[in-house]
Amino acid sequence: MEVQPATVLYIEDNFENRMLVRRILASEGYDVLEAGGAEEGLRIARQHEPDLIMIDINMPHLDGLTLTSMMKADPGLGHIPVVAVTANVMRGDRERTLAAGCDGYIQKPIDVDDFPIQVAHYLQPQRSL
Ligand code: MN
Repeated sequence: MEVQPATVLYIEDNFENRMLVRRILASEGYDVLEAGGAEEGLRIARQHEPDLIMIDINMPHLDGLTLTSMMKADPGLGHIPVVAVTANVMRGDRERTLAAGCDGYIQKPIDVDDFPIQVAHYLQPQRSL
């Protein structure tokens, strides 16, 4: 039986970061969905119900922590793991990320070698064998 590749949605306002993440994840065989902002991300998430959602914290209009809270409160999306991707490394930022409902935290700048391992880790509990 053929294994369906996991679908990962990355919500990020920075084009270069989206390009980098898309390239890494696509080379690992994931289906990659992208959104350039929170509203678009929410729409795509509802439409596709991805296996994992990665959210940039610093976005204009609607920040990633607020978006995470909205997704976790959404009956159709609350079960999907959400990982914050952020350059915020100040004391307390990790706690704020988790308090907003994020299941985890990946630090920028993105480590090209480690990133696929981190992504696989967050997908693990959802994977049915
Ligand atoms: Mn940003």
